[in-house]
Amino acid sequence: MPELPEVETVVRRLRAPLIGRTFEDVRVEWERMVQLPVLELRTRLSGQRVQKIARRGKYLVFRLTGEDTLIFHLKMTGDLQVFPADDAFHQHDRVMFSLDNGHQLRFRDQRKFGRVYLTDTPDQMLGRLGPEPLDEAFTEHDFLALFNGRSGRIKPLLLDQEFIAGLGNIYADEALFLTGIRPQRRASTLTDEDKRRLYRAIRQVLSIAIEQNGTSLPDETYQGGQYQQQFLVYGREDQPCSRCDNPIQRIQLGQRSAHFCPSCQH
Ligand SMILES: [Zn+2]
Repeated sequence: MPELPEVETVVRRLRAPLIGRTFEDVRVEWERMVQLPVLELRTRLSGQRVQKIARRGKYLVFRLTGEDTLIFHLKMTGDLQVFPADDAFHQHDRVMFSLDNGHQLRFRDQRKFGRVYLTDTPDQMLGRLGPEPLDEAFTEHDFLALFNGRSGRIKPLLLDQEFIAGLGNIYADEALFLTGIRPQRRASTLTDEDKRRLYRAIRQVLSIAIEQNGTSLPDETYQGGQYQQQFLVYGREDQPCSRCDNPIQRIQLGQRSAHFCPSCQH
């Protein structure tokens, strides 16, 4: 599932081919991915030019010349790429946006959980998200303050997009390993020093992953790209811990899995 680094990589790849381009039409093969009537999407989007492409949490946010903002969520298996319009379609191409230069932005999504929104009130959707972990203005002090009044387990808390934006299963597991904190620890038992180390680990894993994804093929980006080779705990159940050789454990925590080393993490 694409997380902050994968979405950021897609955003960076889309800027050059899309900024300044005008949408001419939209073809929808799977209507449930589009969060407004298809006819309305086609009508409102036609003639609008892309001014800016940004990321907020795991959302891709396209500012357009009109009042509207086009927003995508890649969910489990979504990916966005630009192709010449006469290139053969892929069986998982679900929504195709025709551009004024004979190219198409294609939303490819095997599982069909991806979403397309067009809204003139983007803050209603994006405003509830927590802070951006890589934002320069987001300090250690701000991170510590997020924990006020929080009593749940640390891993589900890190996955809560209203607590902090953009983290998912992979990078939460990796950051907790680097910090020596078990995913099932109560957030209220973390010391300020634990939280400072966690803040630094989160920023470290996300930054390295963005760097590595930048060198991956587009098709593998959403699976963690080159960074997959470096996972220390995620997806490594029963394999030896890189620090102590004990087997990595996988447990269920809430609705999700969590991977950790029982001897290195407390
Ligand atoms: Zn270990």
